[in-house]
Amino acid sequence: MNIIDLFTKEELTETSSGYKTICPHCGLQGGRTEGFIIFSESDTAYCHSSGKWFNLFQVVCLKLGLIQCIEGNEKGESPNIEKEDYIEQIKEAKGEEFLNDLQSSIEDIFDFLIAEVIGNKITYKVDIDKVSDHIIKNFDIKTITGIKNDDIYTYKDGVWMLKGRGLIKAEAEQLLGRYAKNNIVYEILEKIKRKTTTSIEEFEKVPEYKRCVMNGVLDIEDVNNIKWLEHSKEYNFKIKLPIYYDDEAKCPNIDKFFEETFYPEDIPQVLEWFGHHIPNKYIFKKAVIAHGPKHTGKTVFINLLSSFVGDGNKTGLSLQKISVGKSFDLHSLKNKVANIHDDLSSKDLSEAGGFKMAVGDGYITGEKKFGDYHTFKNSAKHTFTCNIIPPINDIDDEAYYDRWLLWELDNVIDKKDKNINLINELTTKEELSGLFNKAIMYWVSLIKRNYFYKEKECEEIKSLMVKSGNSYSKFATDMLVEEIGSKVTKEEMHNQYCHYCNSQEPKISPQTKTNLGKQLPRYAPYLISSKSNSERYWLNVNISYTKRGTEGTVIEKAIERLEKVDNDANMKHIKLPKLSLLSLDKTITKRRKKMSRKRVTKKRTEREIQYWEIPEFKNIKPECTKQEVYDWINKHPDYNHKELRDKFGIGSYKFEKELKEEEKIK
Ligand SMILES: [Zn+2]
Repeated sequence: MNIIDLFTKEELTETSSGYKTICPHCGLQGGRTEGFIIFSESDTAYCHSSGKWFNLFQVVCLKLGLIQCIEGNEKGESPNIEKEDYIEQIKEAKGEEFLNDLQSSIEDIFDFLIAEVIGNKITYKVDIDKVSDHIIKNFDIKTITGIKNDDIYTYKDGVWMLKGRGLIKAEAEQLLGRYAKNNIVYEILEKIKRKTTTSIEEFEKVPEYKRCVMNGVLDIEDVNNIKWLEHSKEYNFKIKLPIYYDDEAKCPNIDKFFEETFYPEDIPQVLEWFGHHIPNKYIFKKAVIAHGPKHTGKTVFINLLSSFVGDGNKTGLSLQKISVGKSFDLHSLKNKVANIHDDLSSKDLSEAGGFKMAVGDGYITGEKKFGDYHTFKNSAKHTFTCNIIPPINDIDDEAYYDRWLLWELDNVIDKKDKNINLINELTTKEELSGLFNKAIMYWVSLIKRNYFYKEKECEEIKSLMVKSGNSYSKFATDMLVEEIGSKVTKEEMHNQYCHYCNSQEPKISPQTKTNLGKQLPRYAPYLISSKSNSERYWLNVNISYTKRGTEGTVIEKAIERLEKVDNDANMKHIKLPKLSLLSLDKTITKRRKKMSRKRVTKKRTEREIQYWEIPEFKNIKPECTKQEVYDWINKHPDYNHKELRDKFGIGSYKFEKELKEEEKIK
């Protein structure tokens, strides 16, 4: 429908630029350029008597006598008549078909335009205020002004998102079409920003014990009365977990994955850690390191945690970056549920200050890209994985170790057993809902206990971390024993240390002899450096192959067992490779762990047979008798361990030890 169609040919007078007619209300006819001017291109009209302009809808109203020409739109104003007030009357007067035709012909754009008539020409400009108010009325928008940049938030489905800028531009485009020029959109944006400015202090107040998820809000403020609430913009949430709350959901695949990946005693702590991500607050000053070799499920665990908190709700700062504590890096923790970093490097931490600040409820100063500084309370929980825990320079920093939960992952999955689809099976809607239910349950038990399940003492954490991160410490703990009067040459110590590092899984790069000499006494304080003639020694120390607690006793048993089969012809004449006990020790540890995981229910004797029959055991036995060792030692009173081992193999240490106990030798 065009405005011309509203008039008969007789009513219209052609002018140089279009048509004019008699004003349907006041009857003004006017001269050559005056009267009731019709602008057919934009479907508008103008009465020179009232000085008002009309859009298509209003001209219909005018013709039907529903409005007077004085009720038109002022020059420099956009239309004010509410269409809804006249629709019924138009329908009554002209019929439904006409109304439908009219409504489909009206361009909403004219609601937001201001007309300017000069002579018989009309021009339009955008009514910035009206467009801004329309957008503010139809959307929830809040603006936080910054020094160099403003953040425009818009609310949808429970959360305020930083999508206001895009939304306003799109809406302006939608409303104004060809009139949405860049400068106009910019003016609208600025107007909306000014009209929706909110105090940052108010806007950042988010309930600490409520968590927004996909279908509502979980209220855990009272652990004895956990509540389920509707989404609301009043909570000021900026983030929500990508989880649907369903109190009947279960997570059988995740349960199975946890059983295969973590030690049974760690699983409650793992679930409590998921629960710790529910509050918007860093309640317990703890961070997690899941450490272990490759193919033990670390990355799957990290991906599961990321899916639980939402990929967009996490950041990935390394421990080293956090520790340095640059405000530019720390800013990325803001409004995040988690900081998750997979495969941490083993590079030293020069300081722990930033880390201690970032773990816990303290204020952090962040710096945004354009130099806005602001402080915020961090609530992003830190989880890291690594092969080797990075060492810290100040190993006596107790407060640092006190902040860690450590989980060892060592159940290596063979390539052929690997389920490449595992992460998809763990992160279905149902599984994540089930995990969320468990996380809530374990959160309750965590908050009631007020510390994590079987939390390790600070000293124990320190020892595990120092040991993991540091070849000297690991070597000293695993291989050295204090033995007053014993000596090991520095050459031999370094050889043993290099062997040890190479035999580790994953391998550790050995350090130089000079570095070993400087560092070793820190981790084995009983060592005394000494020398006689040209040879340099460590005093008060011996190298032990059967240390390491329970693993040692397994080897002892193995040796006993081998002595019983001493007469077995097959066992004789087997050359002993160097350090075979160490690799045996490792094999046994691995197998024991695997077997305890799989909960083998075979009879114990069968399990023992499995141990005894592994090929490595063949190498324990010395190719000699105790008497031969005794005779040789008597002939070589100045012998050292290396010479003994080269002569008789590694098992001869056992004979040597027995001879000492029997006081046959010193
Ligand atoms: Zn008029």
